[in-house]
Order: sequence, then structure tokens, then C-alpha cells
Amino acid sequence: MPHPVLRFAPSPNGELHLGHAYSALVTHNLARRMGGRFLLRIEDIDRARCRPHYEAAIYRDLAWLGLDWEHPVRRQSDHMDAYRGALARLDEMGLLYPCFATRAEIHAAVAQREATHGRWPCDPDGAPLYPQLHKRLTPDERASFEAKGRPFALRLDMEKAVALAGRLSWTELSEDGNTAMVPAEPERWGDVVIARKDVPTSYHLSVVVDDAVQTISHVTRGRDLFHATSIHRLLQALLGLPEPLYYHHRLIHDGDGAKLSKSRGDTGLRALREAGADPNDIRRMVGLPAPTGGGNSLRDTPVL
Ligand code: GLU
Repeated sequence: MPHPVLRFAPSPNGELHLGHAYSALVTHNLARRMGGRFLLRIEDIDRARCRPHYEAAIYRDLAWLGLDWEHPVRRQSDHMDAYRGALARLDEMGLLYPCFATRAEIHAAVAQREATHGRWPCDPDGAPLYPQLHKRLTPDERASFEAKGRPFALRLDMEKAVALAGRLSWTELSEDGNTAMVPAEPERWGDVVIARKDVPTSYHLSVVVDDAVQTISHVTRGRDLFHATSIHRLLQALLGLPEPLYYHHRLIHDGDGAKLSKSRGDTGLRALREAGADPNDIRRMVGLPAPTGGGNSLRDTPVL
């Protein structure tokens, strides 16, 4: 068993809410219970949406919750070279191709195919699969897009990548302490974007590079990212990166059963604090027992 290293990896694109609090508390408690390390990672590759004041708010809210983490904190925007290196390796393997298509063009291609072939398949998040518009551009077509200065994303040739990596799975931990082998199904995502038009990386690429660099042994995150783990396992296999264990925890919903969003102030940690809530109230609200004040309080976390 590797030395346990866990991380909480928020994006500074809004205020933290109860869902983040739950994820951070579960991860922190689990790290402490296992005698492991707790790291914080700032996932800020999206330059258009991430803001320094949200990053400052993350530190403030987590400290208020009573969490402590190691320094320095890894901030993804400081490590673009690491992602470029991984991207270059995938490119050398012939697994990437440029896609110059705009969202509107992709949308129109899907609509056209649906008109002729019926329902177009969707990825596990419910988005239509990329219709492989620019997968087989001729050298002339590619040169013409380049000459026009059209920005491009780099997409993964999923068929080729899956053929190269072979069958994959991951180990999923559950709250009752059991583990299960989950078969990875990256093909359900189609030719995913590995480097975006605006930054030479993507969530998927950065997360696997960082989890490896930070020697993360247990990836704890919400169930909304369960299916993305198929892509992560594929990238780990292709890049020769270690395989962490995974724990996709339950999600916190609002009173109407909807997923929490960063734009909803009423479940934001800052708003709750300003309304008089204390960290124990937050624990209660997300279904975690308050620390007992004794030395073994971290054992109260009902995970694993
Ligand atoms: N940055 C992601 C988020 O805020 C979490 C990524 C992860 O834990 O793998 O949803």
C-alpha cells in the first residue's frame, strides 16, 4: 500500500458551496484517519473563468472549516510545461489530431446526422459525441485552416488510443469499506478534447498529470466525475502513469434535489457563514457528525 496522499482540487471560478465543503471534509478526514497527507490543488486552467479572489476565498473558507493542508499549493496555471510535455508524448504516439471546428459547426453536424440517421449518441454526461468532423482532414484542408489562423483543439483518436491501451479498469472504494473493480469505458466519450483551443491542456490531461506528480494514492471526488475516470485511466495507461484508487462520494443536493451550483448563493459557504453558521453547522448540513472534541474525532467520518 503506497503512503496515502489525498487531494482536494477545486477550481477558483466561483464561491465554494456545501458540496465542496463535503468533498474537502471527507478527503481531509480520510487522509488524517489513514495517517496520510492532505494536499490542496487549485485547478485554474480556465483563464476565462478563474479569478484570484475566488482562489483567496477557497483558502479562507477551508481554513474556516478547520482544515489544514500542505504548502506550497499546486496551482495548475503554474505548470503548463508539464501538460505540454504529456501532450507531446500523446502526439508522438499519433493519438491526437487538430479540430478547427467551432461549437456551432459541431452542433450543426450533429443536427444534420440526426436528421438523416435518427438519434445521435451521447457521452455519459449527456452531450452529443463529437461527429469526427475534422478527424480525416486532407493536408490541404488542414493547411487552409492554418493559413486562416483558425484556432484548434487537439482531440484524442479514441479508437486508436483504446486499441493501444487495451482493457482497463479501476478500483473503486465504497463507504462500507468494500472495493470493486470497475471496467473503464473510455470509448463512451468519443474523441475527447485533450488540449483546448484556449489553453494547451484540458481538465482530463491536467488531472492525470497532477495526480501522478503529486503521488496521489486515493482520488476522492464527487460522483459527477465517476465516468470521467474512464478517460483518466486511459490517459494514465498511455502515459505510463501510476493508477490511484478512486472514491467517488455522494453529491450534496439542495432542498429541491438539484445539484448545487456556484451561482446559488444560498448554499455558498461565505453566505452561510455571514448568516451565522459555524463549521459544525456546515458538517451537520452535509450529513457529517461534528467533531467530538476528543482525540479521535476524525474516526467519525462515515467513509471507508
Ligand atoms: N476541479 C474539479 C472540480 O472542481 C475537480 C477535479 C477532481 O477532483 O478530479 O470539479
